[in-house]
Parts: sequence; structure tokens; C-alpha cells
Amino acid sequence: MTLKLHDTLKGKKVPFEPLIEGEVTMYLCGPTVYNYAHIGNARPAVVFDLLARLLRRSYKLTFARNITDVDDKINAASVEAGKPIEEITERFIKAYNDDMGALGVCAPDIEPRATQHIDEMITMIKTLIKKGFAYEAESHVLFDVSSIDNYGALSKRDLREMIAGSRVEVAPYKKAPCDFVLWKPSTLDLPGWDSPWGRGRPGWHIECSAMVEKHLGETIDIHAGGRDLVFPHHENEMAQSSCVHDGAPFARYWLHNGFLSMDQTKMSKSLGNVLFVHEMLKTIPGEVIRLALLNAHYKQPLDWSADSIESARRMLDRLYGALQGVVVSEQARAKADVPKAIIRALEDDLNSPLAIASLFSLAKDLNKATKYEEKASLAAALYAGGELMGLLGNDPDKWFSGYLEGDMTSDEIEALIERRLSAKKAHDFDAADAIRDQLLDAGVTIQDHRDGTSWRRS
Ligand code: AMP
Ligand code: ZN
Repeated sequence: MTLKLHDTLKGKKVPFEPLIEGEVTMYLCGPTVYNYAHIGNARPAVVFDLLARLLRRSYKLTFARNITDVDDKINAASVEAGKPIEEITERFIKAYNDDMGALGVCAPDIEPRATQHIDEMITMIKTLIKKGFAYEAESHVLFDVSSIDNYGALSKRDLREMIAGSRVEVAPYKKAPCDFVLWKPSTLDLPGWDSPWGRGRPGWHIECSAMVEKHLGETIDIHAGGRDLVFPHHENEMAQSSCVHDGAPFARYWLHNGFLSMDQTKMSKSLGNVLFVHEMLKTIPGEVIRLALLNAHYKQPLDWSADSIESARRMLDRLYGALQGVVVSEQARAKADVPKAIIRALEDDLNSPLAIASLFSLAKDLNKATKYEEKASLAAALYAGGELMGLLGNDPDKWFSGYLEGDMTSDEIEALIERRLSAKKAHDFDAADAIRDQLLDAGVTIQDHRDGTSWRRS
């Protein structure tokens, strides 16, 4: 395997070599379980699932994706709902796994929960204090960033500039503004555990450091997460872990997915533009959402709009359309190799858009093929490529029938929009309005713009 990955620490694409030949360890920062996952949260789960699938072809992979089940946002959600914390976290862990499963995300090998690793965190914090990297102050324990030389290496920040730029009021118990919390006190109404520093709870960063060490070891091959986690979360994880392990590297490759925005705007609850996967799945097949997420390179920002779904839907219609009516035996499917072009694209820093383009070029050849054998072998290759990418797992006939059931097709919608446009041009506004209502009844909302009409399923 000649895999190349873009490593955030080195700031460039580099050849991938695991620490131990033939084996790979990978850790992905998972969800904080206080709400349903939104489409942005689904991006790391889907793109790093694709990486895991690729790695499993050549290596014995151990993939851990954690659950952050102790956090101030969870405490706030529990107060707001008037429900115990465990009820909140259990509900959203299940919802997360169901939603990601519907997007074709395979379960990780290990799914550690922060609350089940408090002893390991306390041990790690004690070691940091003993080695002179952390200090206790007013029932808090803080990491002393001035005790290391390379703080800021991952996020390319300069510690002196960070200190100079920190305008926020600094907590009185901190020696320096950038020192971060390893342990903090809890009041009796908040979750807490006994510790040498009193009853309290861990800081977010130490949670991942402890879970990585316990399940994957001192040095792991790949550490992944969203771009927003580079600083402070990953910078701090790296600082803690390498200090505990006497300078041993923490992660050999750092991978970060770009951020997903909504119609050019940051997704935020206050703006009311958060799309929950759970809600989306009520009207959109998970495979469509998966393809829409993989249709952009993982490192690039991805601007999500109604069109992301519609174009992914059309793409799947084309792929399944090429496969429809081609009989491929189970045997032929099992024997088919994933086309080299797809492997090459994915091995080049997980270039999923290029891999998808290869699926299309196979579909094009399949549409042109006339001989039965040629059709069967092209279809088998298309299925094999799709399987690696977590796509094309449906039966083509079922895809179309399931999709048409009570659901207007994209073509039908476009045709109605065309008819409405003609009606408007002819000043037949009643007819135009009737078509708009017909679309609304079918669950399709349209919007007129200067350069045309867009639509989305509501
Ligand atoms: P959280 O549940 O907030 O801890 O986030 C879980 C994962 O989703 C982390 O890897 C985040 O970096 C990632 N994430 C959150 N919002 C977005 C977004 N809008 N686009 C891409 N990734 C995101
Ligand atoms: Zn983490």
C-alpha cells in the first residue's frame, strides 16, 4: 500500500508508515453526547470511516472513536431537560450510533467512554504533577505550558503571542493565561469523582489522552478529528501525552477534516440553521447523505445546501441506473477487485471526489457495454468500488422502487418547475401557483432566484 496522508503537524502530505509493520492504531475524537449529531458532526465520522475501510485492506487496524460523556454542555442539557445525566448520555449515544450506522459508518473496534476512564485520568494527572508539568491550585490542576518547549507546534501558534493576545480575564488560580485545566472541582449537584485534589471532574483534553493510552498505547499512528479541534484540544492532548511518556511522540500522523458550513454560514443553534442527521434521515436515504459528504475532499471546507442532497441523489440514480438489470452472481461479486483507479485516488490523501469520478467512469463504460460478460465484469467492479466506499449496497431495483414510493423523482420535480416557469412566462399565474402547491403537497419546497429556481425536500 502506498498511502499518503496530509499530516497537520508536518504541514504537508507525507508517505504513511505505521509504527509496527502490518498494524495501525487510529483514534478519532467522537461526539459529546448532549444532543443529536448534526451534519457537521457526521463529516469526521464518515470520512474517517472511509479511511478505516481503506486501511483494513492492508493492515490490522485498531480503531477507537471515543464518547465524551462528561462535559459542561451535558450538565446543562440535563438541567434543562430535568433528566439525570445518564439518561441524556445513553439516549444520545444510541442516537449517534444509529444515525452514523444509517450513513454506512462501520462501528469502531473500541468505543471508550470518558466516565469509564476516570482512574486512568487521575493517574496521568498525578504523573504530570510529579514530573513537573502540572500544578495544583485552589482544587484545580493545571498544565503548565511554560514547562515545555514545543507548545503550539501542532496549531502553529507562538506561545508568547498567545500570552500577549489573551485578553480574556485570567482565572486567578492560573500561573499563566494559557495553562489549561486537567482537573476542576465539582459542586455536589454536578458529576464528580474523588481525587487527591478533592471531589471534581476531568478537563476535556485529558479524557482523550487517557483513553488513547489505555486502548492504543503511548504512540499511536493516526489521530483524527475536525479542524476546530487542532487548538486547543489536540495541542493540549499532545502536550499532556508526550510529557507523561517522557517525550515519546503521541501521534505519528494528525488528520483534520475541514469544516462544514450551511449556505455559507456557520452552523449554529442561535441562527437556527443546524441540520440534524436524525431529522434528515426521515426523508433522505443515508446513502445519499454519505455520498454528499464524500463528494468533497475531507480537508476542504464543505458548504452544505439543498443542492448537496439533490446532486448526490441524482448521482446515485445514475450509478444505480447503470447497474439496474445487470445480473452479477454472488461469486463474481466476491471475486471482483476494487478498480485500481479508486484505490489510487483514496491512497492519495483520501481523494474521495476522484474515487467517485472513477465510479462514474465505470458506470459510463457499463452503459455503453453490449456484451453480457463485459457488463457483468464492469458491474462487479462498480459494486466492489462502491463497497469499499460504503456505497451501492442497495439492490438497484429496490433503490428505485423505495425511492419512488410516495416520493417525487428529481426528474419529475424538474419537469414541474419547467412547466411552472412556462406558465409564469405566459402570465398564467394561477397555473404557476397550482404547480407550486402541487410540489408543496409532495413535500418539495421551491425558491425563486435571479438565475433560476432551486428546490428541496421538506
Ligand atoms: P462535538 O460533538 O462537538 O465534540 O464534535 C464531534 C466532531 O464533529 C469533532 O470531530 C468536531 O471537530 C466535528 N465537527 C463539529 N462541527 C463540525 C462542522 N461544522 N464541520 C465539520 N466537523 C465538525
Ligand atoms: Zn479528543
